[in-house]
Amino acid sequence: MKNIVLFGPPGAGKGTQSALLVDEFALVHLSTGDIFRRNIREATELGRWAKSFMDQGQLVPDDVTIAMLKDEWTKHPDAAGFIFDGFPRTSAQAAALDEILADAGTGVTAMIGLEVDDEELVTRLLARGATSGRADDANEDVIRQRLAVYTRETAPVQSYYEAQGKYRGLNGVGSIESITDELRSLIQSL
Ligand code: ADP
Repeated sequence: MKNIVLFGPPGAGKGTQSALLVDEFALVHLSTGDIFRRNIREATELGRWAKSFMDQGQLVPDDVTIAMLKDEWTKHPDAAGFIFDGFPRTSAQAAALDEILADAGTGVTAMIGLEVDDEELVTRLLARGATSGRADDANEDVIRQRLAVYTRETAPVQSYYEAQGKYRGLNGVGSIESITDELRSLIQSL
């Protein structure tokens, strides 16, 4: 079973690359951002509540995010593996993911980090905001807030997996195709 954590700052290309690779490897793509946005579209109570954090560039609190991820993960008992995208984003989420997987007799295979510098990220997110309708991409202050939250709360998760010898960094700047090729080889080698 391959359980891959695709890691990197907002705008690094996690969602784009996940979409290109999941079918090829028969993996299930679990994106917490996508799940929150689905709840917002469907105007659920969770969606309305999560939106207030997302629109300000803040993380949705851990307890609810972890419960939601676990719930989605449980819906795929026969999966050959998963790409976790946007989760874990805090140390508490990383510990929770280890526990969920360990209880099922498995674990994180590797964390693959897409490494992209901040100015490139701001450019990409503003460009996405111009067409995606995502409120959190439309405003440069909110984008910079998300990058600050990433540095403060999410970047330490990398050390958590480095300490387990599971972190692999990849240059996330280049053509989408060339990055997909690199990810493909890396995933095949796991
Ligand atoms: P991006 O990585 O481009 O910021 P996502 O779609 O992954 O986009 O996430 C959008 C927003 O959803 C985040 O800024 C945050 O508010 C919320 N979110 C997504 N995943 C998590 C998570 N694991 N923990 C807390 N909040 C999350």
